[in-house]
Amino acid sequence: MCARCGTRAEGPQPTWTFSVEDGARRHYCEACSRDNLRAIEGRLDAQWW
Ligand SMILES: [Zn+2]
Repeated sequence: MCARCGTRAEGPQPTWTFSVEDGARRHYCEACSRDNLRAIEGRLDAQWW
């Protein structure tokens, strides 16, 4: 289930983005992945550096 728009998916979705945020596993659908890509990368950068 997409953590952003709530889209449900049946079975594994290889095109979805998997992200661990605050210890919680979250998946984002293809559309939300594009919107969140920079935000996710920005968060990772903030955590690592
Ligand atoms: Zn979504």
